[in-house]
This record gives sequence, C-alpha cells and structure tokens, in this order.
Amino acid sequence: MIKNIYKKYGFFILIVYLILAYFYMPLGLIAIVCMAAPIIFALMGKGRYWCGNFCPRGIFFQNVTGRFSKKKPIPKFLKSTGFRIFMIAFIMANFGIGVYMNLGNPAGIGSVFYRIIVITTIFGVIINTVYMPRTWCSFCPMGSIAQFITFCKKK
Ligand code: SF4
Repeated sequence: MIKNIYKKYGFFILIVYLILAYFYMPLGLIAIVCMAAPIIFALMGKGRYWCGNFCPRGIFFQNVTGRFSKKKPIPKFLKSTGFRIFMIAFIMANFGIGVYMNLGNPAGIGSVFYRIIVITTIFGVIINTVYMPRTWCSFCPMGSIAQFITFCKKK
C-alpha cells in the first residue's frame, strides 16, 4: 500500500529537493543519497531494485514527463555499453572536478550536485519525450553502475 503510493508520488521528493536546494545550496548534497542508493542495493544483491521502485527521478520520468513521451524505441547506441561507460566517466569527471574546485565550501559542492541533477534531469526529460518515458535510465550513470555490479556479482 505505502509502496504503491510512493511509486506514484515519490517524484515529489525530487521537486522538493530542487526547490529547497535552490534556496539553500548546501542541501544540494542530499543528492548523494540517491546516487549511493542504487549502488548499495546492487551490492546487497538486489540488482536495480532502487531504480524500479524508489528513485524519485525515475518515478518523475515515468509518472510525470512520461505522459508526454512519444514512446519511440530507444536507439541501440544509447543502450550500448560503450556509451554507458562514457556517461559514467563524463558525469563522474564533472562531479570530481566540481567538488575538487569547491573543497571546504559546502554551498559550492552542493551547487555542483544541484547543477548536474538539474542539467541531467532537463536532458532526461527531453530525451524521454522523444523516445520511451525512461530513456535516460538506460544510460544513467548510477543505474549503469548498479547494473554492472549486478552483472559482476552473478559471475
Ligand atoms: S537509472 Fe538513474 S534515474 Fe533511472 S531510476 Fe535508476 S538511478 Fe534513477
């Protein structure tokens, strides 16, 4: 029951995050929770359980912006291992450089997380509108890391 309600309205967490962190940038750091969660679940042997059930952004893509999706098939390229690895490297490099340049400044580090969440969410909304509602999730760095962990654990 509670889980079903969450799977419908969990996207409010993303909206509250975007509003609160806008006015108080250190709160941008809360994004770390949602970034670590898929990895923790995968390490616990739960695969992409977080992605399928708890990720506020995944729920946002599915239940909010998914309504406007043209639902075209996702291009194979976007799901390829090479592109997913590129996305992990690209996003993590952006985090790493941003955090390094703001060391000792919680608002600055929070703004790095906030900016990347905003940019990737906007990009996700655009690409999800053109293709399937959760196209972003097929190459989202955190989802990909969770999947790679799951794959390695099965070997
Ligand atoms: S793939 Fe990324 S955005 Fe999609 S549900 Fe998983 S963590 Fe969230």
